[in-house]
Amino acid sequence: MSHKFILLLMVFSVQGLAIQTPVLTQAPDTKAPWIVRAYYKHKDQVQNLSSLADLWTINQQQHYAVLLIDNAQTFDKVKSLGLSIRIDNKLQQQYFRDLQKITSSNNKGSNVISGFSCYSTVEGSFIRMQDMVLSHPDLAEIVDIGDSWEKTINNLNGYDLKVLKITNQQIVEDKPKVFITSAIHAREYTTAELTTRFAEMLLAQYTVNADVKWMLDHQELHLLIQTNPDGRKKAETGILWRKNTNQAYCAPTSNNRGADLNRNYSYFWEAGNNQCSEVYPGPMAQSEPEIGAVITYLKQIYVDNRGDSLVEVVADDVPGVFLDIHSFSQLILWPWGLTSNPAPNVGQLAAFGRRVAFYNSYTPEPVSDLTIAKGGSIDTSYGELGVASLAFELGTAFFQDCATFESTILPTNLQALMYVNRVARKPYELPLGPDIENLQIVPNFILANQATTVTGIANDDRYNHSHGAQSFASVQNIDLFIDDLPWLGLNATSVNAADGTFDSSAETFTTNVDTTSLSVGQHTLYVVATDTDNKKGGVYAQFLHVVEGNTVGTISGRVTDAITGQVIDQSMLTFNNSSNRSDASGQYSLLAPVATDDLHVSANGYVNKIVPNLTVTQQQDLNQNIQLEPFCSIVEDDVENGNGMWTSTSNWAISTEKSSSPTHAWSDSPNANYGNNTNTSITSNDISIVGADSLQISFNHWCETESGFDFGHVEINFDNSLWQEILSCSGASSWKHEALTVAIPNNAKQLKLRFRLSSDGSLTDDGWYVDDVLLKVTGQPCRGVFDDMIFTNGFD
Ligand SMILES: [Zn+2]
Repeated sequence: MSHKFILLLMVFSVQGLAIQTPVLTQAPDTKAPWIVRAYYKHKDQVQNLSSLADLWTINQQQHYAVLLIDNAQTFDKVKSLGLSIRIDNKLQQQYFRDLQKITSSNNKGSNVISGFSCYSTVEGSFIRMQDMVLSHPDLAEIVDIGDSWEKTINNLNGYDLKVLKITNQQIVEDKPKVFITSAIHAREYTTAELTTRFAEMLLAQYTVNADVKWMLDHQELHLLIQTNPDGRKKAETGILWRKNTNQAYCAPTSNNRGADLNRNYSYFWEAGNNQCSEVYPGPMAQSEPEIGAVITYLKQIYVDNRGDSLVEVVADDVPGVFLDIHSFSQLILWPWGLTSNPAPNVGQLAAFGRRVAFYNSYTPEPVSDLTIAKGGSIDTSYGELGVASLAFELGTAFFQDCATFESTILPTNLQALMYVNRVARKPYELPLGPDIENLQIVPNFILANQATTVTGIANDDRYNHSHGAQSFASVQNIDLFIDDLPWLGLNATSVNAADGTFDSSAETFTTNVDTTSLSVGQHTLYVVATDTDNKKGGVYAQFLHVVEGNTVGTISGRVTDAITGQVIDQSMLTFNNSSNRSDASGQYSLLAPVATDDLHVSANGYVNKIVPNLTVTQQQDLNQNIQLEPFCSIVEDDVENGNGMWTSTSNWAISTEKSSSPTHAWSDSPNANYGNNTNTSITSNDISIVGADSLQISFNHWCETESGFDFGHVEINFDNSLWQEILSCSGASSWKHEALTVAIPNNAKQLKLRFRLSSDGSLTDDGWYVDDVLLKVTGQPCRGVFDDMIFTNGFD
């Protein structure tokens, strides 16, 4: 072995996962399964491939699909389609790591999946459903809609198919229905957890969140959390199980047995000949008991509003939504899947999907943009019944790590699900109208006849335009309703735009509420906006509490800057759901429900403050002056005035190719792609942080690299110790703002910041652009010790 070769090996092992694997000419001799990328030249190859196996994800920019191959025959079939096959190293290693994590501990009898404690087992999710019914008997009930395949064979095995139905049972009226099915594909861990958390969130917030209250009072939510419990039990042992466990197909004990339930729906169902395939559709439509049960239930809860031809259009005012929650690939999908022709309601379905995708930043597109697939859920709910239907593809893995689920997938998709419910009364219409951002009533606790103010922004362009632009119009009207349900259209009060004219797609509004006729108690204020195409948007609501002075106390005082002593205007103070702002003299006064609770204070440019355990008593004023710790900037660089504080390695340079403000940004490879096996960076000078208590780093960037193989790394180094990565990025082709809070080690005196691009041995891309770097701290540096700070150039 030559020295050169040894050196090469060392480089490979250091870079580990980032190395592109070779194109395979035959099935690997390593143990199956193999998780591979199949690179295609033409879209028809993807179509042929998708009839062989489930495509986990399709990268349309880089022309490859990811799939699992579990034997040499399938490998040869894939190869015969003319695709270049490489092992996806990252997913392959993750697969074996996950398998070890799960099988190394015993899952039996546990309510959570071992190694993935954020996900309930089937038994665990049934217990949580039961807990919800026990704690909210007037809002939640369980409906048994049928049996899983194993239970139909032997009543002692398998599971009931349980729908958690959530609505205020005291209000009996014809309510729009939202049906959500999750975990139809057994291995998709995040999906059942998202729907369970959504249900738990709604029930917990029913009394305190005005939107949740009107949704549960006047709509019904039907959640089939475990759609494929038999298969899910297999997947809980670490097998990448997708189908149900029907022993009639493939071979009774094979791990490839069963039918793909999401190919077994009835609308334009199509036969398949390979029973061992991941996408085997079953011998006939609805052959599987799980799908038979779902379709029977759908026909009970929805009126059929559509004839069954491919071209019939559904009327604009048809209520109700069907959602099928899958993973993974970060997509929002609408019909059709069965043909590349657009669905008859494509304009409305696309607007719905793009609005939902605004909330989770997923790519919105029709299923058929990926591949044609027949017998799917959303084609059937839309095609046979006319229900507005979407599928979600959550996250980036089947066995998604809990940290990513909790920090990203859950919060963004809870918002997306809230939006779906917001427009469920007219899902073909309301997504075309303006959304409302940041609706507030302050103060929200008032005495009779006391003034209060409503603020917010009506925005017609809250769409995700990343896959086809959605048209939008100007806001024309904003209507306010107090206690009158807005869809009845009675007693609306028009609100003017804050700038006096409705002439823009986003209009800020601020108005006093007429409180003269409001009785003591809780009231609901609703806002609905209309655009110049006469399209109304979804309903947004807040509670307003009118209280009697002798039943509450007050908290009052002054809010000031902890360093300068200057008063702070418009800080927000909240105690026990009661909120008010400080005025121009820093003074505030809050009507406070009698309780012991924390006072939360926030203001722009200051660290949030919590004053713990204040006890408010009836008719007493609690005086509480507040000092807020300011953030101050120690670096502001908009990259408009030269290298300044940065040392660069080639080919980093300041470029006008792309910028987020005004015309310049750093680029790793101006006017060119980066190279293979590159490792280049810009590094800041030493930045003093003596006496700083907390640190915020923000910047704008565009990180267009080979997804999963080439990376931008943001790294920090305190007092010339080791570099630590604080963020990495890959495969994103738009500007993104990042704001990171970074812990400062004890007594650290200085730091360096580095932006470093690394690439593997094949496939390159445009690269990384970095702009608007801002470092802010609190503490000593804000107290006037400005000597050794770096002000490159301001862009405030
Ligand atoms: Zn799926």
